[in-house]
Amino acid sequence: MSNLIIGLTGGIGSGKTTVANLFKRYDIDIIDADIVARQIVAQGSHALDKIKEHFGHDYLLDDGQLNRPKLRTKVFQDPAAKAWLNALLHPLIRSEMTRQCQNAKSPYCLLVAPLLIENGLYKTVDKVLVVDISEDEQIQRTMVRDNNDKAQVEAIMKSQLAREQRLKFADYIITNNTITNNTGEQPLLESKVEALHRQFIKLISS
Ligand code: ADP
Repeated sequence: MSNLIIGLTGGIGSGKTTVANLFKRYDIDIIDADIVARQIVAQGSHALDKIKEHFGHDYLLDDGQLNRPKLRTKVFQDPAAKAWLNALLHPLIRSEMTRQCQNAKSPYCLLVAPLLIENGLYKTVDKVLVVDISEDEQIQRTMVRDNNDKAQVEAIMKSQLAREQRLKFADYIITNNTITNNTGEQPLLESKVEALHRQFIKLISS
């Protein structure tokens, strides 16, 4: 069991996945909220049965899996449906993440959640690590990665906490802006992760 849970968060396109992958080099267990959210509505799950009961059979695909786009559209248009779904899924996601953190084998583990603060998950972790980036670069990188236009990215950003609000919750910050130098950005990010890794190990042994 890990002795320390680090919550890793940041806005869309800030670099959470990139940073988490760098921590993997140190064999750190990563618990990803998006993956857990998919696991708990897997075929045959209690949550999927409840969704079928509440919204109807047509929210399932022919192969019995959840019709995600249909459900996403529904909750986008219907606040009551969104509230119902959140009330069902959030406690399940939370307890499954806690279970996976408890089963983690590395000295500390990372819980990666885009909405760590928005959903109150920060209360379940020991320390909060925020990946921070300027809004201009955030938009630029997300547009390139997701092939989205600026307005789409800005709409997603609006549904997330504002940069300065998020930073108020940070115990640690990784700045992930592009710095133009001869060595490129990636080695710099690697060294920032390495420094944090050392700090976390020190924290456990202190
Ligand atoms: P998140 O998981 O927070 O949404 P990603 O880790 O997917 O963000 O990063 C968003 C995009 O920006 C990806 O295409 C990624 O390759 C790129 N990226 C991340 N960090 C850097 C960096 N330091 N320099 C250049 N590109 C980066």
